[in-house]
Amino acid sequence: MSDEVKKLVDGFHSFRNKYFVKDTDLFDHLRTDGQAPKTLIIGCSDSRVDPALLTQANPGDIFVIRNVANLVPPYEEGGGFHGVSSAIEFAVKNLKVENIIVLGHEQCGGIHALLTGTHDNSSKSFIGSWVKIAAEARIEVLREIPNAPLKEQLNSCAKKAVLISMENLMSFPFIEERMKAHELKIYGWFFQLEGGKLLEFSYEQRKFVEI
Ligand SMILES: [Zn+2]
Repeated sequence: MSDEVKKLVDGFHSFRNKYFVKDTDLFDHLRTDGQAPKTLIIGCSDSRVDPALLTQANPGDIFVIRNVANLVPPYEEGGGFHGVSSAIEFAVKNLKVENIIVLGHEQCGGIHALLTGTHDNSSKSFIGSWVKIAAEARIEVLREIPNAPLKEQLNSCAKKAVLISMENLMSFPFIEERMKAHELKIYGWFFQLEGGKLLEFSYEQRKFVEI
């Protein structure tokens, strides 16, 4: 076993010690009653942006979907391998989560691929077509700040992509229905690696503000 994998196994043992040896109440409850998370977080696969670590959540607190650039595709009918949409459906219809948080972040590789088009564009690659979900974010950034430094463009693009995912969430009929009934809220968050800050999209101010 490599040192990296050994470190993960050691981590599991300390997790086990915490939840299955020292304080067994939480998992007794989760095992008996099942999970009932109130919040779905849609985050990026990036190793620096683990929703559970960032929020110090306990097991059972958050239902999580992670993918390249924390994107939500628009609602679509018909077949296909809808991994993200099926997890959203399960969270909303079965678990009845009350909050959905789209968590974007600085230095996102997926957003970099979207903005610069430097990924493998061949039909053998998946990333290019996936990040096109946020194609409008790229168009807006290049229109609004065409001469800004790449870092600024990437941040702007990542934030706009969060808003596109939030809009796409609304295209799911079962989400729209629950929002109209005030049973579900959608939040847009952005983790700024520089300074370790968490920003939230303010619907009133129409921009991301630190929380
Ligand atoms: Zn990312």
